[in-house]
Amino acid sequence: MSVSQLARAIATSPTMKLNEEARLLRERGEPVIHLGIGEPKNKAPILAILGAAAKLQTGDIKYSPSDGTPSLKKAIIRYTEENYDRIVGPENVIVSSGAKQAIFNLLYAILNPQDEVIILAPYWVSYPEMVKMVYGVPVIVTPEDGSFYPRMADIERAVSSYTKAVIINSPNNPSGVIFSDEFMAQIVEFCERKNIYCIMDDIYHKLVFDGRKTPSCFQFTKKDVESTKIIAVNGIAKLYGMTGFRIGWTIANRQLTEIMTNIQSQTTSCASVLLQAAAEGALLGIQSIVENLRLHCQNNRDIVMAELSTLPGVKCTKPQGTFYCLPDFRAYLHPAVATNSVQLSEFLLKKAMVVTVPGREFGFEGHLRLSYAGGVKDLQEGIARIKWAIDPTSPNDIFIGDKKLLRDWL
Ligand code: PMP
Repeated sequence: MSVSQLARAIATSPTMKLNEEARLLRERGEPVIHLGIGEPKNKAPILAILGAAAKLQTGDIKYSPSDGTPSLKKAIIRYTEENYDRIVGPENVIVSSGAKQAIFNLLYAILNPQDEVIILAPYWVSYPEMVKMVYGVPVIVTPEDGSFYPRMADIERAVSSYTKAVIINSPNNPSGVIFSDEFMAQIVEFCERKNIYCIMDDIYHKLVFDGRKTPSCFQFTKKDVESTKIIAVNGIAKLYGMTGFRIGWTIANRQLTEIMTNIQSQTTSCASVLLQAAAEGALLGIQSIVENLRLHCQNNRDIVMAELSTLPGVKCTKPQGTFYCLPDFRAYLHPAVATNSVQLSEFLLKKAMVVTVPGREFGFEGHLRLSYAGGVKDLQEGIARIKWAIDPTSPNDIFIGDKKLLRDWL
């Protein structure tokens, strides 16, 4: 089959692929536990449902303006003022079909072929692929000390005359860490000094634990929305558990917003009006749903940390936000089990029916990303199964579903 070189080079989204694998196994009746999925289990907020239902009932479901319905944009403007203390206008907002499309539009708008984007490892799986999809070059910066905290010295070394942007995601998918105020201030200063874009992917910004707040890049600039190169990307998927509604947005200067709107108008025309109505409902409705989700994640974070601590040799940086952690499983990489994170993830699915995501996909080999967005029981049983599969000191048999299994590989 004849396909472009570029298309051939784009990897499938490993998380979407794993979701599909888990779905198929479940359909076959297998007792799969999904610790890979990046979505909370809660139902959508009632005002989101009512908003979409009311729109649907009008029967008048047409295109919206490419940059979004005026009323959703108004809600986003209010959200931006309340959460970021930034006054922006409708000309600074574009609504897209998920934060994913928002980031893609943005990269398409700012990159020439061969331009470089600095991506901080561990990173969200889609950043490097999206950069490549617009003929850019992802430049991965990994902290030399093996931690999940990026360091300015490493970033400074990675910059070249082709660098166009840095992507910042805090709290971070997959590590759950929050970048420090000091780091955020430095990165903003760095981007301003180099005159490059600072893409702030803030999709998890309210899912933070232990009374912490995640600093926003906006705090560290004196520039207003028209003159800054800080671009904020946000959405409803994670904070409201509305992943399937596919609404995200970008806050940027007027000119860039116009260009992204042109791009969107030629690709998807606009996000669905029904789903925009739902997003508006979520943003304007009672916000306790976000707080409940935050508490649920914090509680689950404590459970996952306690369970992991019973696995000798597994090290895990305590997440400060999101619903992910990225424990280091290198102590268990040996020929009887697996020799890298991809094999380990496959092994755990096959032997223990637990879905995890290999750290390699996030630029951190030897680790696995575990999601604790789901229920407590799944979390406890999932880690118990992992322990059984890889830890020779754990009991030799286990019940998975209604089958008693014996471990005969260690
Ligand atoms: N950014 C990050 C860091 C994410 O984890 C995700 C979703 N996994 C997205 C963006 C995309 O969000 P959306 O579902 O709104 O497209």
